[in-house]
Amino acid sequence: MDDKKLTPLSEIGEFGLIEDLKKEIHLHHKTTIKGIGDDASVIDLGNENVLLLSSDLLAEGVHFDLSYTPLKHLGYKSVVVNVSDIAAMNALPREITVSIAVSSRFTLEAIRELYEGIRLACEYYKLDLVGGDTTSSKSGLIISISITGYAKKNEIVYRSGAKENNLVCVTGNLGAAYMGLQILEREKSVFVSQPGMQPELSGYEYILKRQLKPEARTDMINEFRNLAIIPTSMIDISDGLASEVLHLAKESNTGIDIYEEKLPVDSMTSAVAQELNIPLTTCALNGGEDYELLFTVDLSAFEMLKNHPEISIIGKVNHFSSGNNLHLRSGQVVPLKAQGWKHF
Ligand code: ADP
Ligand code: MG
Repeated sequence: MDDKKLTPLSEIGEFGLIEDLKKEIHLHHKTTIKGIGDDASVIDLGNENVLLLSSDLLAEGVHFDLSYTPLKHLGYKSVVVNVSDIAAMNALPREITVSIAVSSRFTLEAIRELYEGIRLACEYYKLDLVGGDTTSSKSGLIISISITGYAKKNEIVYRSGAKENNLVCVTGNLGAAYMGLQILEREKSVFVSQPGMQPELSGYEYILKRQLKPEARTDMINEFRNLAIIPTSMIDISDGLASEVLHLAKESNTGIDIYEEKLPVDSMTSAVAQELNIPLTTCALNGGEDYELLFTVDLSAFEMLKNHPEISIIGKVNHFSSGNNLHLRSGQVVPLKAQGWKHF
């Protein structure tokens, strides 16, 4: 009998699992404008404003390694990843709740360190920490944060709004957090096996900061308002540019072309990629955790964006029938593929 066949999660992956769970979820309230499927859900407040709600969970051994992640940085970053999802909707965050599962190997002082990072992020992003939950864990530290955001209904940007001939843009630069992680992994043996020895981290400050203490691009949300730009679609880059381009294309029912020569990369990222013999484009396309914003915008914004120091135009939206492509420096055009982060 076929119905006895069980499906390993590795067969369907994280996105396949979410798709499957989503099928059985039915909404009860007209006020839920957007449920599962974007960076945050959108809830009607009955006036011109909407409430956004999102959550992210970080698990020790999966998302972070405490042998080289200071708890204060971890606390800060766990807030930032949530803020980034609110920014991805073209909104600004306001409240968070923080839930932790802690094993007995942690001390009060350690958890205070974690909360010091959370507190600093709340200062920086002007967030109110309004609650949470605390429990014990048998297998390491787990941090789950939920966040709210507010915006005017007509300012909200979804993953699904990209239109043919739109520009494809990205903020900041790509691949730096991934290169920072490679350096930390390389030096890990020193942290772990030789207490008191200093790992060789000097000279790598920028990429280490991008990995350990990233910032969410709420500054760009304010910049969009200054420039009177509303992107047609947007997503934050947590799983790597390629993966997020494919999300925007799929949700918008379009194709997207990306140009290798336009991908913004910091000079330290390229130097370290060379040092570690990692292809730079692979790193820019698939390195995760940059927390930059990928967005599409009407062609009319070209003049405003073409020389913007924090925004790069990296591609173009096409008809879905042309697929998703990467134009290599050599002139060759190849299908855009995501390596992404596989959790199963
Ligand atoms: P992000 O990387 O922006 O945090 P995810 O890829 O984690 O987004 O999630 C994609 C969408 O699926 C989001 O709308 C999220 O709220 C939803 N989602 C993720 N996990 C679950 C779950 N276990 N149950 C219901 N919805 C989920
Ligand atoms: Mg997101």
